[in-house]
Amino acid sequence: MYEFAVTPAVTQIRRRGVEIAEVAPDTIGAELELEPGDRIMRVNGRVVRDYLDFRFQSSGETELTIDVRKKTGEDWELNIERDEAEDFGLSFEQIVPRQCANECLFCFCKGNPETARPSLFVRDEDVRLSFLYGNYTTLTSITEDEMRRVIEQRLTPQYVSVHATDLEVRAYLLGIDKERADISGKMRRLMEAGIDIHAQVVLCPNINDGEILRRTIDDLAALYPRVTSVAIVPLGLTRYLNDPRLTPVTPEFCRQTIAQVEAIQSELKSRLGTTFAFLGDEIYLKAGARVPARKHYGDYPQIEDGIGMVRSFANEIEKLNRRIGRKTAGATRSSDQARSRLNGTIMTGALFAPVLKEMIDRLNSHAGAQLHVLGVENEYFGGDVSVAGLLTGGDFAAMRDRIRGDFAIIPRVALKSDDAILLDGMRFEDLQKEFDVPLYAFDFASLARAIESGGVNVNAEFTKAA
Ligand code: SF4
Repeated sequence: MYEFAVTPAVTQIRRRGVEIAEVAPDTIGAELELEPGDRIMRVNGRVVRDYLDFRFQSSGETELTIDVRKKTGEDWELNIERDEAEDFGLSFEQIVPRQCANECLFCFCKGNPETARPSLFVRDEDVRLSFLYGNYTTLTSITEDEMRRVIEQRLTPQYVSVHATDLEVRAYLLGIDKERADISGKMRRLMEAGIDIHAQVVLCPNINDGEILRRTIDDLAALYPRVTSVAIVPLGLTRYLNDPRLTPVTPEFCRQTIAQVEAIQSELKSRLGTTFAFLGDEIYLKAGARVPARKHYGDYPQIEDGIGMVRSFANEIEKLNRRIGRKTAGATRSSDQARSRLNGTIMTGALFAPVLKEMIDRLNSHAGAQLHVLGVENEYFGGDVSVAGLLTGGDFAAMRDRIRGDFAIIPRVALKSDDAILLDGMRFEDLQKEFDVPLYAFDFASLARAIESGGVNVNAEFTKAA
């Protein structure tokens, strides 16, 4: 019992300094004989807690004193002179995320099956990861130390889950008291210090929709341009997240939300010059509506939250069609034959599949390819989870008898960003063994390269990208 109680904490104890993971050859780091496993403890006398600290404390400095604890236990003091732009060639251990103290009604961690990868249960709430990767935090438990750090190190922009500016509703959604739910002072302080904020609303029918949503958008728009944009994404329920206080998002709810928010968007567009409040792609797909045009999204401020992905993908396919059109205008008979050999199946989430099929059908007619789209149901999470990024190894494997052609593709986004592993813990190479044809994990760029290169080159590209 004791061991069970302390294990999670023990695995996350933070050691002093930051550990070097890799040293690139022919760089200052290599010249200084730094090695993976060494820890940087201080730069110019200031303590280093993680690689952001190292970056902040060393940037712009040409003369540095670096205290290193070698992996052998020895302590080194290195005095360095370098050109301002000269890189150390070091990469570091990952940041161990701080976790939240909320009990959100819709928390994705509650939506996981017991057997899910342990990392899926990490309730990260970390302003560093928000700055680095666009992870959302609620700011409810940010410490004074972290506030100062965001300001001093200019960790801008920050991504903040607001959900509702009505305190009663925000507190209810986050499962905390109203006092903690009130982040207006913290947001003001960050904004006054020049930190930009991208906000998020997880839209829960009958809780923060309708009038509450309108007020939330209005209140946040009043803080524009420091609050730069708002992403409105739908609640996702799995078979494990079935709190009776939550109402599923239906196609009809999505249509009503689009109608409501479109009116607000056009008012904001004429007043602020930006759409400002963006609806998640899933809302359009579920409503059976077309996603807005390219200019609606401006410079895609919330693309990390998946907002505008469908539009961006559709535009890339159109560009690809035009490029292929130009090439095939003068193509030889043999290159036409090469392209026509491209015959395989692209798997994606059930929600996106019909839209992708339309795009791929057009692409097929331009490229002379025979690509088939297969919508994959999410049996692992169940509920209304239908996006490609949450499909698991088991879900893809269940499709093996429905593959047409010589190869199959899964979306790259279904794999962990830094490892070839799927959400249910299955390794990609094990999933490949389940299929009778070669299986590849592609993003759009790899797919486009494969289609454009055609024939024998296609196979080379596939092998490399896989
Ligand atoms: S803040 Fe995020 S991780 Fe924490 S309970 Fe809410 S949804 Fe879950």
